[in-house]
Amino acid sequence: MSHQLPKYIDLVLFAEKGRDLDGEIQLSTLSRLQDMLIENSGSVNFALSFAKQGRLMVLHGSIKAMLKLQCQSCLQIMDWPIHTTFKLGIVATMDEANTLPDDYDPLLIGEEKIALKDIIEEELLLSVPAFPKHETNCFTLRQKNDISTIDAQPAPGNPFSVLAKLKKTGEK
Ligand SMILES: [Zn+2]
Repeated sequence: MSHQLPKYIDLVLFAEKGRDLDGEIQLSTLSRLQDMLIENSGSVNFALSFAKQGRLMVLHGSIKAMLKLQCQSCLQIMDWPIHTTFKLGIVATMDEANTLPDDYDPLLIGEEKIALKDIIEEELLLSVPAFPKHETNCFTLRQKNDISTIDAQPAPGNPFSVLAKLKKTGEK
């Protein structure tokens, strides 16, 4: 399933025609996201669905990605899965944006055409926490790493001192 993705999207036309669009974008091509990533391999999968609900033009979408972020607590690389859905109301003015249903965020039609990439990147940026951290206590993980280092280099002569050290660390 490989189809050419449009680079730019005519929001009004897509909504009028009720177009659906899905695909994949390489994370390395999203320039604003780069600062957040410790590694930019991988891609983001997206599915977009444009429609008209009465007079309101809408875009419903979902994105899925696995980002590599740096834990702000232990500074290790961690996988950060993102799977989010969003609802956008396509509007021309801020006044119009204020009339959107509560669960819709505005997507402003600018003077220039909007890049598909920018829509996806914006949603990704909204999903990345300002201070990403391991959910479980990351210092436990770090301690485990310390143990394996000790394990790999047993002190010469007295193997029991290593065991004693291990036990002590394990009890903490
Ligand atoms: Zn951590």
